[in-house]
Amino acid sequence: MSATADARSGLSGAAATARGSRFAKIEAALSCPECRGKLDDDLACVACGASGQRRGQQLRFGGFEESELRSDPLNRIKETVKRRFSRVYPLAISALSPVLSVNFVKPFLRSFDLDRELVADLGSGTHRRDPRLVCIDGGAYDEVDIVTDLRRLPLADGSLAGAMSIAVLEHVTDPAEHIAEMHRVLAPGGRVMAFVPFMQPFHASPYDYQRYTKVGLAEQFPGFEVLSVKVGAGPTSALVWVLQEWLAMTLSFGSEKLYRALVPLTWILSPLKLLDLLLVHHPSASVIASGFVIEARKIG
Ligand SMILES: [Zn+2]
Repeated sequence: MSATADARSGLSGAAATARGSRFAKIEAALSCPECRGKLDDDLACVACGASGQRRGQQLRFGGFEESELRSDPLNRIKETVKRRFSRVYPLAISALSPVLSVNFVKPFLRSFDLDRELVADLGSGTHRRDPRLVCIDGGAYDEVDIVTDLRRLPLADGSLAGAMSIAVLEHVTDPAEHIAEMHRVLAPGGRVMAFVPFMQPFHASPYDYQRYTKVGLAEQFPGFEVLSVKVGAGPTSALVWVLQEWLAMTLSFGSEKLYRALVPLTWILSPLKLLDLLLVHHPSASVIASGFVIEARKIG
């Protein structure tokens, strides 16, 4: 996009510059998701002929079908809200959600030189946590730079200094394949940070398959040195979410319709999660933590 077009779209000079340098770094790191061959300017592989597409600034290499994002009733509503209110969705979620996350994203991002190093948010959804971050997702949300299957990233081996994965691995059938792909695109010594749930109710986005204990999570990263596994969301977050579901179920007398109507009313209890400001520091918090965050370094 030209400077005039940036001005028209309301991007400030600083944001436009950050985006320009982000795209320069992305273009330099691109490679064919199928055969790792070189991509030409039209994103076609010179070796195998596979190709992506440019939609405005967004690079598309597959991703979710619309029908997949709309299969679960609650996720259907989430998807509509995400698209219509993509800017306020992350804020609304953090206010209404029963889960209070520990601030693990900013310290991780601060540990990189984002002006120089390429760091990707894998499964970024509608979030853009930093203008210099590469946002990658299976869904084509506005803030996503690369739309792709996260198991076949269109990035060269060793092209990333860092990767993060926030609440993604529980939503895939084959987390090991996702982690292997993170390992491939990270440079030796590159670091990954991942948040996954332990005690959270079922939540499709668009699917939901597994949970991890603290020790179980540390076993999921072969080829990495585990630097830390910490409580990422505490015991009260776990309790409040379960309590909300339990109340909606108990008060709906077997009616699915009434249950769905009651769930939003139970969000009035969400502020209780603030107790986790204290409880995450309890030495036994991991016994009923809502989720864990792991940081690991690629060996070699
Ligand atoms: Zn190829």
